[in-house]
Amino acid sequence: MNNASKINTSRSQELFAEAGRLIPGGVNSPVRACGSVGGEPLFIEKADKSLIYDVDGNCYIDYVGSWGPMILGHRHPEVIKALEKVLKTGTSFGAPTSLETELASLVVDMVPSVEKVRMVNSGTEATMSALRLARGFTGRDIIIKFDGCYHGHADTLLVAAGSGVATLGIPGSPGVPDAVIKNTLSIGYNNIDAFTDVMEKMGDKVAAVIVEPVAGNMGMVAPLNGFHEALRELTAKYGALLIFDEVMTGFRVDKGSAQGLLGIMPDISCFGKIIGGGLPVGAYGGRADIMDKIAPVGPVYQAGTLSGNPLAMAAGVATLKEISKPGFYEALDAKTEKLVTGLKKAASDAGIDFCAGHIGSMAGFFFTGGPVNSFDDAKKSDLDRFARFYRGMLTKGVYLAPSQFEALFVSAAHTDEDIDKTVSAASETMKGLV
Ligand SMILES: *Cc1c(COP(=O)(O)O)cnc(C)c1O
Repeated sequence: MNNASKINTSRSQELFAEAGRLIPGGVNSPVRACGSVGGEPLFIEKADKSLIYDVDGNCYIDYVGSWGPMILGHRHPEVIKALEKVLKTGTSFGAPTSLETELASLVVDMVPSVEKVRMVNSGTEATMSALRLARGFTGRDIIIKFDGCYHGHADTLLVAAGSGVATLGIPGSPGVPDAVIKNTLSIGYNNIDAFTDVMEKMGDKVAAVIVEPVAGNMGMVAPLNGFHEALRELTAKYGALLIFDEVMTGFRVDKGSAQGLLGIMPDISCFGKIIGGGLPVGAYGGRADIMDKIAPVGPVYQAGTLSGNPLAMAAGVATLKEISKPGFYEALDAKTEKLVTGLKKAASDAGIDFCAGHIGSMAGFFFTGGPVNSFDDAKKSDLDRFARFYRGMLTKGVYLAPSQFEALFVSAAHTDEDIDKTVSAASETMKGLV
């Protein structure tokens, strides 16, 4: 572990400069650039279990987990074994394999509302396909989303979209025509009154309501009691579909995903991240009568050259089997509780305004007294303090997401020692933030 107050990242800097000449911003996804915390990205050499190593040989405890997928930690032996097995047979066929049915069957067994599921290649693809399906099924156009929820970068959903767009301080995106977003309405997360109001006015024109059941792209924001119940009740009343975007929460907050934990049955659910075990996968699934509107059974078109890719399916199957083992979520929850309690104590010892929470191994913290129940609340966080905290933790060997508006993930590979080290790094860093 690197304990120096300054770390040498010269090789990362060279590689970033070189990448910047060929790749926009030097990165293939914007938040990776680390701009909002006043730094440059680390180029990664390798990762193992809970640790990630940069190209300059520095080692960090990793709480990014590739932004969510690595719930087992890096290079879990069962995932590696499954991948090696597939490598011996070929990497892509563009024809069905039994691995696809195996992953589908795990998803259907584990997630309460899913009767049929279609595999795609990313979370973005899952949500945009789910919306097309919802519009095709209902014959309506209007979509309701919530401020600060991110559902991937499809045109229709880039409205008040949290995460990367929030980090970069832009409301939407150039390149998204008004005609496309005029059918998207975004309202406050956890705001039951605003939602009820909108549904009373135009519920019969709404194709779908899409929501992160536990928000993770404005930092972590938990749903208030009654919020999802209201979404479920009013969508059903007006014949709109309820879409749970479980790309982050799926298999993260519970074996049955957020819907299992909350006891809410959405009509369609979207997955990504953990379902691919670290390979590029997304999926959407739900009620069979809705899913059967998709081609080739029904008229709603959606396709993919690499969809159901055998390597990706194998990593997903191996991951879902591991997380199904008894006690898996209890252990993760206990570790995360210990971390969050430690962070809160570090802040209160230093006299810093701070709030933090977690649902299972998905955690978040803000530099404001809170409570944080919406994107507006999240934006009250002291971003300068966050940036200094981020840099302080990094120099002490703790790798956090480089944005206030992202969640923190604990994996099964994190040890008690990792958590202890992280909490003492936080205590030391917090003292310097006052
Ligand atoms: C990450 C994420 C997406 C987008 O998934 P990609 O695989 O990055 O396209 C969509 N919705 C939620 C809730 C996410 O966290």
